[in-house]
Amino acid sequence: MTTAKAYAAAGATTPLAGTTIPRRDPADHDLQIEILYCGICHSDLHTARNEWSSIMPTVYPCVPGHEIVGRVTHTGSAVTKFKVGDLAGVGCLVDSDRTCPNCQAGLEQFCPAMVLTYNFPDRHLGGITYGGYSESIVVDENFVLRIPQNLELAGAAPLLCAGITTYSPLRHWGVTRGKKVGIVGLGGLGHMAVKFARALGAHVVVFTTSPGKRDDALRLGADEVVISRDANEMQKHAGSFDFILDAVSADHDLNTYVQLLARDGNLTLVGAPEKPLPVSAFGLLFARRSLSGSLIGGIAETQEMLDFCGEQNITADVEVIPIQKLNEAYERMLKSDVKYRFSIDMASLKAE
Ligand code: NAP
Ligand code: ZN
Repeated sequence: MTTAKAYAAAGATTPLAGTTIPRRDPADHDLQIEILYCGICHSDLHTARNEWSSIMPTVYPCVPGHEIVGRVTHTGSAVTKFKVGDLAGVGCLVDSDRTCPNCQAGLEQFCPAMVLTYNFPDRHLGGITYGGYSESIVVDENFVLRIPQNLELAGAAPLLCAGITTYSPLRHWGVTRGKKVGIVGLGGLGHMAVKFARALGAHVVVFTTSPGKRDDALRLGADEVVISRDANEMQKHAGSFDFILDAVSADHDLNTYVQLLARDGNLTLVGAPEKPLPVSAFGLLFARRSLSGSLIGGIAETQEMLDFCGEQNITADVEVIPIQKLNEAYERMLKSDVKYRFSIDMASLKAE
């Protein structure tokens, strides 16, 4: 066992602070990775503050971070896919049973024995897994992704969660040229969804509560921007969408979006607010509309997404921060004041 510097929450109401955590010695199939950048996902904040206590209670100390880009510093004896010095990406998943029907279908995120990158039982060291707000991590090579060489690394890190979480449902629901697609919430996930929907050729409409994001939404690839608190603007789009992706982190009214769907249209939630969101049955019944959810994406699809980003030169728009600004970044994220993802420069952890 080795140790690594990290930032952890000691409790639901304590700011994150510097600490030291254990990391396992690399086993035969493991890679040891020096973390260069780690994106800040709203899930990190939900978890650090135990907002998902009824589904996944947080065990403290909690080291969040699942948008990891780094460099391989050590390879186990049986590693075949990576060598020392290679760029490496780690997202939300670090293990699964690899044999169940979901794993066989490349959908490890639905494996009953999947292991998330943080706040999940650690089969190697006991306790729970610790995420990417850290100088290093040890992960089985089968759960490590290749980062295309042309991508800027700070902006590539958020692809490992925000990227795959939006790419996967857009692909699953057949978003392509000629489809009218809505993206709700222009945050970390939402802005990636806009880039992907645009790259897939759809007509993209952004729904935002922040009028100040209008110009950015257009620059990121939206064809139209709707201020969602304006009922008249919303009404103009009634019954017209093939697909809407909802990436909102807080309480909001889903029914206003259900009624914007065309016949057989689908609203998929990727946002995971703390409290349940009520839905009227009638909104769904009348036009055979459907409501779905989507959870990150499997390893093969994550690699497909990264390769797509390499070809199209897509990365997240990031504000790079030192880890010492983490708590401030959380407060700004809560105010929807992030343009459009924070990415931690992990070199800053060396100063701790
Ligand atoms: P984020 O960067 O904070 O973005 C959330 C956006 O939601 C905000 O920028 C804001 O957009 C909008 N919003 C915030 N409060 C709102 C309110 N009260 N009413 C309406 N809109 C509001 O968060 P994120 O990192 O993109 O994550 C979004 C959600 O997805 C979180 O709940 C996160 O846990 C979840 N998530 C799920 C998965 C999955 O696998 N399903 C993966 C990652 C994250 P505007 O300013 O444009 O209104
Ligand atoms: Zn995430």
